Amino acid sequence: MKAVAKLFVFVLCLECLFAETPIIGGIFDYDDMDSKAALLASAKRFEFAASIKDVSRRGAILETSELVCQLAQEGVIGIIDGTSGRSTEHVQAICDVLELPLIVLQHNDLYTRNWSLINLYPSPTAFNMVLEKLIAAKNWHNFTIIYEKGHSMIKAQDLLKLSNPIEKEAVSVRELSGDDYREVLINAKHSGYVNFVVDCPSNKIEEVLLQAQQVDLMADEHSYIFITPDLFSVDLARYRYGGVNMTGFRLTNIQKDEELWDFTARYNEETGYSLDPENMKTKILLIHDAVKMFSKALSKVAATAASLNCELYESWTYGSSIFNFMKTNKVQGLTRSLLFDGFGQRTNVVFDILELTPAGNQTIGTWSNNELVISRPIVSNAEIAEETIMKNKTFKVLISKTGPYAFVKESSQKLEGNDRYEGFTIDLIEKIADILGFSYEFEVETDYGTLDPVTKKWDGMVLKLREEKADFAICDFTITAERQSGIDFSTPFMSLGVGILYKEPSKQPPEMFQFMAVFSDEVWYNMVLVQSALGVVMIFVGRISHKEWQNPVPCVEQPEELSNQFSLANSVWLIIGSVMQQGSEIAPIALAPRVITSVWWFFTMVIVASYVGTLVAFLTIEKNVMPFQTIEELYAHKSISYGCKSKGSTKQFFQDSSNPIYQKMYEKMRRKGWLVQDNDIGVDLVENSTYAFFMESTSIEYVTERHCDLLQIGGLLDSKSYGIGMKKGSPYKFLIDGALIKLKETGEIQKLKDIWWKEKRGGGKCGEQRKDDDQQLGMKHMMGPYVVLGVGCCIGIVISTLDMLWGVFKRSVKYKTTFKYELIEELKFAIKFNGDIKPVKRPPKMSGSVEALAEEEAKDEVRSLRSIRSSDTNKTHHSHRSRHSSSSLSVAFARRRDYS
Ligand code: GLU
Repeated sequence: MKAVAKLFVFVLCLECLFAETPIIGGIFDYDDMDSKAALLASAKRFEFAASIKDVSRRGAILETSELVCQLAQEGVIGIIDGTSGRSTEHVQAICDVLELPLIVLQHNDLYTRNWSLINLYPSPTAFNMVLEKLIAAKNWHNFTIIYEKGHSMIKAQDLLKLSNPIEKEAVSVRELSGDDYREVLINAKHSGYVNFVVDCPSNKIEEVLLQAQQVDLMADEHSYIFITPDLFSVDLARYRYGGVNMTGFRLTNIQKDEELWDFTARYNEETGYSLDPENMKTKILLIHDAVKMFSKALSKVAATAASLNCELYESWTYGSSIFNFMKTNKVQGLTRSLLFDGFGQRTNVVFDILELTPAGNQTIGTWSNNELVISRPIVSNAEIAEETIMKNKTFKVLISKTGPYAFVKESSQKLEGNDRYEGFTIDLIEKIADILGFSYEFEVETDYGTLDPVTKKWDGMVLKLREEKADFAICDFTITAERQSGIDFSTPFMSLGVGILYKEPSKQPPEMFQFMAVFSDEVWYNMVLVQSALGVVMIFVGRISHKEWQNPVPCVEQPEELSNQFSLANSVWLIIGSVMQQGSEIAPIALAPRVITSVWWFFTMVIVASYVGTLVAFLTIEKNVMPFQTIEELYAHKSISYGCKSKGSTKQFFQDSSNPIYQKMYEKMRRKGWLVQDNDIGVDLVENSTYAFFMESTSIEYVTERHCDLLQIGGLLDSKSYGIGMKKGSPYKFLIDGALIKLKETGEIQKLKDIWWKEKRGGGKCGEQRKDDDQQLGMKHMMGPYVVLGVGCCIGIVISTLDMLWGVFKRSVKYKTTFKYELIEELKFAIKFNGDIKPVKRPPKMSGSVEALAEEEAKDEVRSLRSIRSSDTNKTHHSHRSRHSSSSLSVAFARRRDYS
């Protein structure tokens, strides 16, 4: 079995050797997943293969030795020992024999100068020196050294010498053991010392802090110096406001190291964590630096890997060259310059000295070239008043030239610096700066920032904030979950959602017969029906009411016949007259027709009142016929293209949406190239083509105040807010939040919004125009009634013409003249316009006495009178009865006529 395993390892080694990818060996405790991931990520970064061996138990010397031999057989170019326990001594001994370069990552108490290895961890001497100087700077006269059992106090041993009873300087020592440190801590507290130097492994920091807080050792009067350089990789937020002073070291330069950001991203990818560079533990960074050292050495020493056998005491030809190169050549790692003394111990370490303050972590000085340089006076936390930390500082503020948030000022003079810009966010930051007393300078950045899903790299404003190339970003900067994973946002200063900007469809004037729309078709049909039915009822009721039968010729006392006014024409005239609110001369006499007429009048009163009441509203409706009302309808529409800003939260909203329609819309926008670079281009497209633009509602509000032909269609698709961006864990967030809340409460933000949205740069234009439009009823509203009038008149003229022609025809037949002659005569008379009496025409060839003729005419007159009587009855006729006979009446009429 063992032989098979060896064969397998051998085959594997051969494969690797032939593949020519150098292998770096790593030995780690089996549960040290983070270190293993760090080796894998670093190996990938420097194009190595990594062979990792797990030690199943701490200090398992034999097992570790066996693993080293396995690695040697695999042909590794060097080994990184991440165990750094007792077994390191054996590892280095084997590596020494095999001449395999060995890098260790932690201090080892067993270390002696004849060890052949490189130790990347800062030497204990460096710690002793920096601690001594720091304690002097802090002016501590007594303190307690707290260390973890199993670790020597080697990094702080020189401090013991500071104890001096004559000068009343005292140092006490406490050892932490097990998992419960409370008893030791309580004892330390009772000693009365309030200053502590703590030396514990980085994975114990949180527990120590927590238990110290539990025993009330984290108050204003307490000060700590932590020796491990990992203090500030831990989240210390809970201790920030307690007043405790904590000082620690940091090996990396977070702000200026691009490599660190890159490695953090790779490491996060490998582990699935989402750490920031400042959360990276020293050991992880040292693994990276170790691999980098191998990479640098291999680039200088042309070495080929070889499989080595421990049992044969083989040694690697290139091992010592690589080892010496690494020891003597300076490499710039994530933990700054990697320099070593002749024994492979790291020298000239550079530390940042950090302090936890209520305003966050602050660098108070640096340790470099064995010198402590304090850049900020050591003061108590109470003195670092929150309000003062921004005072008199100058911050770089990122802005975007997007209206109304920031514009370039229009001026005839050449403007410089911050004066070049104006806008809502420019005024807002000015107000915040007034409150907090800081100054600022603007930098324009068009890209707000997104995370590349493949490279996991940020860009735009987010990147600049993260890399501390700028302090704040203020624009229409939407707070998104993704961005919040990379930076911090202030409390929101404006709320919004995504809306659809579209061209207002030209208003359709009301239809010509809009006045008909007041009632539904059903009501109109029923009215016609009711009127027809009522006409019939009136005729019937009129005929059976005996009072309605009247003498047609009142002057004849005993008429031979009676006439009834409720003919079809009269009934319809009465009905229509009342509907039109005009009445008619037809007046029912009998009770029954009067009752029916009264209820009809009542009915018409209600109908007309309802009609008039609603008519104005109907006439003034100008319909906007929208091609779509919702986003779904827009999606279904074939001829309207749509899009949004190509980089920003709106695009992200569509891209990440779980709604299949939004997803498809995003795909279409992307495929068809409908995404635009900025809002202005989008607005332009909406105005000049068939294009709908997805825009944030606040910006839509701004645009529709100035472009009166544009409007927002439908509601908002989501809800979010704008905030001021700043780096993660920014010490200023708290203060900026406070200032923003103050400005919100006093209504200042709303005031600024009103100014920049509704007043400045063309605001308020559309409101006025819309009001004017609303007031009057124009010809377009009244066209229908005019048309009805015109058509009615035309029909009237046509009927009267036909009537006239009929009359002319009848006369031409009666008097045996030509139709043309009669027509000319008729027209001649009609266009004379003088007098309202028309002579009856008689044919010139007609013979007979005047009396006979008069008799004939009289018959005609009586006939016509009868018809007038029945069609045009009025009360005067009824009350006034003549006693003249029909013949004498005819004679009288004939006498009045003027025969030609
Ligand atoms: N406010 C957006 C952002 O922060 C930009 C505009 C947009 O995407 O519509 O990315």
